[in-house]
Amino acid sequence: MNTAQTAQSWIVVADDAAATGLVEVARTLGTEVVAVVAGRRAVADAVAGVVDRVLWLGEPGSAPVEAFAPDVARLVAEATPRTVVGATTPGGRALLGAVSAALRSPVLAGVERVELSGDDVVVTRSVLGGISQHRTAVSGGPAVLAVDAGAVVVLSGAAPAAGSAPVEEVPATPLPAQVVEVRPTTVAGVDLGAARVVVGVGRGLKAREDVALISGLAGALGGEVACSRPLAEGVDWLPKDRYIGISGQRVSPELYVAVGISGQLQHMVGVREAKVIVAVNSDKAAPVFAQCDYGIVGDLYQVVPALTAALGGAA
Ligand SMILES: Cc1cc2nc3c(=O)[nH]c(=O)nc-3n(C[C@H](O)[C@H](O)[C@H](O)COP(=O)(O)OP(=O)(O)OC[C@H]3O[C@@H](n4cnc5c(N)ncnc54)[C@H](O)[C@@H]3O)c2cc1C
Repeated sequence: MNTAQTAQSWIVVADDAAATGLVEVARTLGTEVVAVVAGRRAVADAVAGVVDRVLWLGEPGSAPVEAFAPDVARLVAEATPRTVVGATTPGGRALLGAVSAALRSPVLAGVERVELSGDDVVVTRSVLGGISQHRTAVSGGPAVLAVDAGAVVVLSGAAPAAGSAPVEEVPATPLPAQVVEVRPTTVAGVDLGAARVVVGVGRGLKAREDVALISGLAGALGGEVACSRPLAEGVDWLPKDRYIGISGQRVSPELYVAVGISGQLQHMVGVREAKVIVAVNSDKAAPVFAQCDYGIVGDLYQVVPALTAALGGAA
């Protein structure tokens, strides 16, 4: 590898990926950020605003993102950059898997923190369902990282590039696979990873219509509504992309307010990087109180309207 190559970070962008978090990580670990985009031209154009170079594999038509895995892997392997960063979305995972095989480098998942130590890429990862953290240094070879937008803290970040990089179309030979049917799931399309304030609600809520109370508080705080898994996968009161935790979204807001959430590990892992955590729970023995900065013991049906009104919102 020459010096120019070792300073490169590549991001692998699937059509469904939110690229901003990937770019932040990549920029921390390399002086030049190159994106390879397996998706629509609109995605490539959006990414071009925040990276130094874009390789676009052409309009996918009815081919799924996964069909471009060999092309993505070939391009990355030819460049052998210092780091390859991709998203933990279904498409992102498929592309990263192919890259990992081509580079003969393992994918490091559960990434929570990245930094450079000399030329080594040092990654702190959450393992065993968040019970433990591993610190791994990758030296002498590409580090392949799977990241959740919002889950990663960068320790030596450089300023993002502004402007517009050229989009170079690269001929691709997608695998012969086609999307024959699309069944949309209920998603909010919200980027919780980018939210400065998140208000999460759990099974303390008694009825679907009471989500409005939580929306009122989130609105007064200028934040987004999120939830624990049972509210998204049990009763379906909120879309699946709003639930936080080990199997949901990971967020790193300035403020996380946990309302009627008990504070099980599988949920709290998702808010580990929040700067301040406030909990509202009627049970003073709820585990969440051992993990928050400020706790309010009380009935959410009294506390939330009072907080919303105090903040000047409609309670
Ligand atoms: C493999 C696996 C993966 C999982 N992944 C996730 C994940 O990613 N995210 C996730 O969230 N969970 C996940 N879970 C589920 C997790 O273990 C918990 O069951 C879940 O987080 C509990 O949700 P909760 O806190 O809303 O509900 P509960 O644990 O039932 O807590 C409800 C809380 O509300 C309080 N409450 C009740 N009434 C009121 C009131 N009127 N006012 C104020 N407080 C009140 C109660 O005191 C209680 O503490 C996972 C579980 C497994 C096994």
